Amino acid sequence: MFGGGFGGPGGGPGSGAIGGMGGVGAGRRDRQQSGTPFAGIPPELAAGVARLESGEPPHPAPNEPFHQRPGTTRLTLWSLLANRPAVLATAAVAVLAEALLLQAGPLLVQIGIDHGIVARDVRVLVAAAVAFLAAVALTAVASGVRIRQSGRLAAYVTRDLRVRVFSHLQRLSLDFYTTEKAGVTMTRMTSDVEALQQLLQEGFAQFLIQGLTMVVVTAVLVHYDAELAAITLLLVVPPLLALSIWFRRAADLGYNRQRDAIAALFSHLSESLYGVRVITAHNQQTRNVVEHREVVGAYRDANDHTGRINAVYGPGTSVIGLLGLAALLLIGGRMVLRDELTIGELTAFVLYLNAFFQPVQQLVQLYTNYQQARAALGKLRGLLGTVPGVPESPQAIPLPPASGRIELRDVTFGYTPSRPVLRDVSVHISPGETIACVGPTGAGKSTLAKLVARLYDPDTGTVLIDGHDLRDVTLDSLHRQIGVVPQEPFLFAGTLRDNIAFARPDAPLAEIEAAVDAVGLRDLVTRSPDGLDTLLHERGQSVSSGERQLIALARVFVAAPRVVVLDEATSSLDLRSELRVEAAVQRLLEGRTAILVAHRLSTARRADRILLISDGHILESGTHDELLTLNAHYATMYATWQSHSPA
Ligand code: ATP
Repeated sequence: MFGGGFGGPGGGPGSGAIGGMGGVGAGRRDRQQSGTPFAGIPPELAAGVARLESGEPPHPAPNEPFHQRPGTTRLTLWSLLANRPAVLATAAVAVLAEALLLQAGPLLVQIGIDHGIVARDVRVLVAAAVAFLAAVALTAVASGVRIRQSGRLAAYVTRDLRVRVFSHLQRLSLDFYTTEKAGVTMTRMTSDVEALQQLLQEGFAQFLIQGLTMVVVTAVLVHYDAELAAITLLLVVPPLLALSIWFRRAADLGYNRQRDAIAALFSHLSESLYGVRVITAHNQQTRNVVEHREVVGAYRDANDHTGRINAVYGPGTSVIGLLGLAALLLIGGRMVLRDELTIGELTAFVLYLNAFFQPVQQLVQLYTNYQQARAALGKLRGLLGTVPGVPESPQAIPLPPASGRIELRDVTFGYTPSRPVLRDVSVHISPGETIACVGPTGAGKSTLAKLVARLYDPDTGTVLIDGHDLRDVTLDSLHRQIGVVPQEPFLFAGTLRDNIAFARPDAPLAEIEAAVDAVGLRDLVTRSPDGLDTLLHERGQSVSSGERQLIALARVFVAAPRVVVLDEATSSLDLRSELRVEAAVQRLLEGRTAILVAHRLSTARRADRILLISDGHILESGTHDELLTLNAHYATMYATWQSHSPA
């Protein structure tokens, strides 16, 4: 069905006339004026936002041309960070300073003990204490800078990533939205990006500090006493390494499972929200709750699993650390007794070993963050690696203003290649001709219309407009000249005017008014409290189904395409609304090439030509009268329809 596909999670691409991404800049301007939620930034906040934005690094502009895939740099943490070199460098310097300053403590304690207390020199003791205080103050400054800079880095990087993923989603074709669940895509944009944000905000810098600390501490330990350092490190590092390798493997699986479970949870939630009317109408709330309990349960299990892994790794590292400390006291204590080590040096050694293990403890937590972010990054990489089903060729040229001649040449197409829906279909449609596709349900009528609008590409054969293969012209120029009216029109939360001008947000008011009159929406505009500026609820729930159809038609009027592909709504309207929609359709089709997926033979009857599609083939083709004279399938269908029709 057209409707399902068009009104999918992408929302925009197929709702009404497809205007491509053409007037985005102008649209923003226009929307800013109306000050609605859909409109973006209210005027009173615009100055503040402009001031904030002026201080920020430039937003990555959508790649031009929009539909061609950007030279895909593989999504890695580094590729994300490298886009913000200045913030990264400041954060790195702060991290380095913090890590080094943190190591001053044990050294000053050792000096204080050996050269102050043991040597009974108060000046050294005071100097060591003052230096200690200064080190603490400087550490606080470095830590503040580090937290601020890593926060900024996380905010920028995740914003860049969100824009990149969203642009990619806008670039993807209809096939993606019909196969991928909306909730899974939502998870990628929310929970997965947040996992990365968390890592970057705190984790990454901490990771570096702790890592650096371990390196510095090792060097200091070796400097104090190479033999003691070697013995201690040999005792603690190998078991620590083995435990970490086990944790990495187990956590890898665990966090991937967690990502999948949360995606399933979001999917179920979003489906339940979208389908709430059907669920209520069929009294399936209890079953839905049971289903939700299952997906929530699976998420709980996944969390439980990662919790268990952490419960082994955390205490495991603690035990190794404490055993190391005990060994150090034993071996180091004997060395002090033999005068091979001073008491201050042993104290410093103990403090440094503690400093070596503190990071290990922290690293456990950070490693958890890191594993979560790694799993999230993997999922996002998968999404960004999805190739649009309908790609724009790098050699694509803009479609010159078309006369509207359409041709399907030996077209075969199936949603899954093994099961063709259309087979060897060839049709010529002259400029200005109205073609109605009729036939049994599931015959392939909407599919043919989708191929003409290049929402899918044929498996074999060619679809041409004015002699140009659709694959050889840019998607922008094509969609500007082919307007689509889906079976179930999708309206956005925003004003009536925003919705009508959706495909051309910069359309002058006069054109919008003309479209309102042409489709017969004047009544609604006059009745609405704020006229064209009246807010519509999400998905147009505050207007009737007939009005939704008229708004969708008005959209195409404003877009003024050469070719209109219209999937007739199957939802029945009362007679008066039906007549209004029919009249609006007639006005819209005047002078345009049109492909109608006609669910009512009353619509088909008025077309210049009727294609009877059955089982993926064009069975009959001709005017209504010609097909009646032929006295075959169409004539039978028509007779049956007439006998059931009240008119
Ligand atoms: P109707 O009059 O009921 O709208 P139709 O003639 O327009 O039917 P199509 O929507 O073109 O039929 O569908 C033709 C066939 O392709 C049907 O068997 C349908 O189940 C299948 N189909 C449609 N969309 C998809 C899709 N996205 N993925 C897989 N199969 C699909």
